[in-house]
Amino acid sequence: PKSVLKEISPCVWEIPDSYRNDMRVPARVYASERMLGQIVRDRSLEQLVNVATLPGIVNHALAMPDVHEGYGFPVGGVAAFDYDEGIISPGGIGYDINCGVRLLRSSLVKDEVRTRMAEIGKAIRIDVPSGVGKGGMLSLKGKQIDAVLEGGAKRMLELGYALEADIDHIESGGRLDAADAASVSDHAKARGHDQLGTMGAGNHFVEVEYVSAIYDETEAERMGLFRNQVCVMIHTGSRGLGHQVATDYIRLMNGSLGKFGFALPDRELACAPFRSPEGQSYWKAMSAAANFAWANRQLITWEIREAWKRVFGSDENLELLYDVAHNIAKIETHTVGGVRKKLVVHRKGATRAFPGQPVLIPGSMGTGSYVLCGREAAMQKSFGSSCHGAGRTMSRTRARKETNAETLLCQLSAQGIIVEAGSKAGLTEEAPAAYKDVDEVVAVIDDCGIAKKVARLKPLAVIKG
Ligand code: 5GP
Ligand code: MN
Ligand code: MN
Repeated sequence: PKSVLKEISPCVWEIPDSYRNDMRVPARVYASERMLGQIVRDRSLEQLVNVATLPGIVNHALAMPDVHEGYGFPVGGVAAFDYDEGIISPGGIGYDINCGVRLLRSSLVKDEVRTRMAEIGKAIRIDVPSGVGKGGMLSLKGKQIDAVLEGGAKRMLELGYALEADIDHIESGGRLDAADAASVSDHAKARGHDQLGTMGAGNHFVEVEYVSAIYDETEAERMGLFRNQVCVMIHTGSRGLGHQVATDYIRLMNGSLGKFGFALPDRELACAPFRSPEGQSYWKAMSAAANFAWANRQLITWEIREAWKRVFGSDENLELLYDVAHNIAKIETHTVGGVRKKLVVHRKGATRAFPGQPVLIPGSMGTGSYVLCGREAAMQKSFGSSCHGAGRTMSRTRARKETNAETLLCQLSAQGIIVEAGSKAGLTEEAPAAYKDVDEVVAVIDDCGIAKKVARLKPLAVIKG
């Protein structure tokens, strides 16, 4: 696909639908020329072309500047399908259903907390369990887990683990109504029953950060952000439960491809018509797993608030700035060819960026992260979506091989960053060098009018799975 890429406007590249005769729409990439050089090194463009062949896709298959190879669909991809004629695909959402990011803001400034970072890092590490398969403070049975699957963050409010104001600062209010606990397997429920309030491993983290730059004073004030303010970022998803839902439905859909007469260019694109029984069961189960993830980030917030008060005193509060999903499908209405259309928008490693909405973009534990604000143009350009991070330039395996954990820890410590990591191997996979330059990725999003930069955050303490 590399040879046919054309820059149709600054930072917008297109692969025409004539490139392969099975493409239903063109593919588009938002990237600078330099970033494109990184993007063409893996299979992400070929995967994007594959996505452009799926039934019911509208406008374009889209890649954000953080795009890299994923399971079937690239990570950093957006694809919208017609509600009546289109498909839903677990690979277009990802194994970690509703993996996402939440940002909490404090009233403290960097200089007040600098010397307390080791202490808060340890406190968070104790209160927020991490590691593969690790259980947490709640063990849910039968109807209790169903109530979480159907209630999401709102169930956490009923249980006393949320403030009313939290719910208003979560995408979709932290709950998708389509959720149906009956469409989630017992195996998935068993895997998740004790995982609420846990971080998981690898790429997931809790990070204490401070606001190192403000780009838009008005928006920053509206979001309650100011220079040197200490914030906490949470990145995790639906844990083993969501992973099992994805596994269950990929298997189911792979088994029914013949029935739907789908000839897919890659088995990993397993999908079903959205309106079919298989499509509807997955949609209900995906919504339930998404609710579980919102409940998870909510309980983690409660745990962090407890740790925060223990360390900084009972007057210190953490307020929820926003919570965004970056692995999810949503039913939304967009204007397509001048007509309002109901669509199933798949965002895999992509963040919703509706006009005025806070957009949270983690970068890496060494470089920093961003808060942006969605702009009107995003609705036409990307179905109201933005990138979700810096995006990998190295596979996990390569990052592990090329990084020495001790050297990395020294480098971070020299920058004043404290690290609490569950595993050294896990840490090396997340080395800053394994990711693209977040400043460059965010500049593309800002330049092409999808979302504007509001603030940049730098890490102080990183707590990793
Ligand atoms: P993903 O959901 O694709 O695993 O990760 C989203 C993004 O998080 C990555 O593209 C990367 O830019 C960012 N990221 C990964 N590890 C860290 C970390 O330790 N701290 C911060 N701030 N960002 C990270
Ligand atoms: Mn995840
Ligand atoms: Mn994620």
